[in-house]
Amino acid sequence: MSRYAHVEKAPPIEVFELNKACIADPAPKKANLCIGVYRTEEGQPWVLPCVKEAELSMAQNDALNHEYLPVLGLEPFSNAAVSLLLGDVETSPPLAEGRAFGVQTLSGTGALRVVAEFLARILKYTTFYVSLPTWENHRLVFFNAGFKTCMEYRYWDEQKRGLDFDGMIEDLKAAPPNSVIILHACAHNPTGCDPTKEQWKIIADIVQEKQLFPLFDSAYQGFATGDAENDAWAVRYFANERNIELICCQSFAKNFGLYNERVGNATFVVSDPKVMVEMKSQLTLIVRGMYSNPPNHGARIVCTILNDSALRENWKECIKSMSKRIIDMRLGLRERLERLKTPGDWSHITTQIGMFSYTGLNRDQVDYLISKHHVYLLKSGRINMCGLNPSNLDFVAGAFDDAVR
Ligand code: PLP
Repeated sequence: MSRYAHVEKAPPIEVFELNKACIADPAPKKANLCIGVYRTEEGQPWVLPCVKEAELSMAQNDALNHEYLPVLGLEPFSNAAVSLLLGDVETSPPLAEGRAFGVQTLSGTGALRVVAEFLARILKYTTFYVSLPTWENHRLVFFNAGFKTCMEYRYWDEQKRGLDFDGMIEDLKAAPPNSVIILHACAHNPTGCDPTKEQWKIIADIVQEKQLFPLFDSAYQGFATGDAENDAWAVRYFANERNIELICCQSFAKNFGLYNERVGNATFVVSDPKVMVEMKSQLTLIVRGMYSNPPNHGARIVCTILNDSALRENWKECIKSMSKRIIDMRLGLRERLERLKTPGDWSHITTQIGMFSYTGLNRDQVDYLISKHHVYLLKSGRINMCGLNPSNLDFVAGAFDDAVR
């Protein structure tokens, strides 16, 4: 009898299970709209030209080696990541006053994990709030890091297929002080609905009045509008204009196409730079006890690109073209559904933003799409717009039409 015999099977992770099932599906016509990765018009993964160029130059640079990085990571990378988020010293008081610092992490998830442990163990915060719905990993990461209570704030309004702002505000107002509020910086996953600038201002008011702790999750900077500056608006407003202490967890998976390199950063904005030495010392022990120090390759790529004007320009073009392709697919899908007179209102497909669309398709319709049409999407009805391309738009729209009727 094995000592592991009593280990119970953990529930599967929906998005990975579906992805596996789709890849294994022998149907000649199928569509993978589940996993959140970018695909070209040909349905292929894309290595950004600036990434290739940075890698080539790194391979030829004899000054580079494979020594360990410091526990908190490659500092020039973290500095570049903080600036990408907050802007420059002319526009960002925290940057100008030396009140912001970054810690390199294992992509966005790793940033959330380190930060959650810091908030739970060092600041003794116990309650975190997630939007309803949210990225499905937030709960697991925060509970694993030591948080005790997860609360939800209303976000998606099923009827209007958009943001339930009144519900959100009501729930945030009722949150106890020092609750950690996870806010999606842009391109909310899974709904594709973001607050407007006016709405963000009201959220900032409540965060200040109720002494809540804002934790921004920024996994799609540049992906939402095609412009990294625009997509940082909410975080910059809180940090630069409102002088609110915050943390932002950044992922460079989507906007640099560096999914498996695990490039991330946690940006800390504080009101008094004196606290930074102690904070960094605690973060150092958290990382040391978790994975000791982060990997070099992806961070070096991002750092090289952001610090080289030609490569940075190329990167800007890349995010523009990726976000444009997504917007084109939104238009294409909506137009086809309207042409087919598919029952319902499909305007939300084009008002939503970023990689995902919350289609409003229900559980039965999703099951039907998978089993009858081999169109794979999450049971919540979320689709990855990048799974669409000019060759499968008609097929997917036809399948949606059939499922809805
Ligand atoms: N946060 C959100 C909202 C996401 O959608 C994702 C990825 O899908 C992540 C964080 C973290 O991704 P990664 O760990 O690959 O950077």
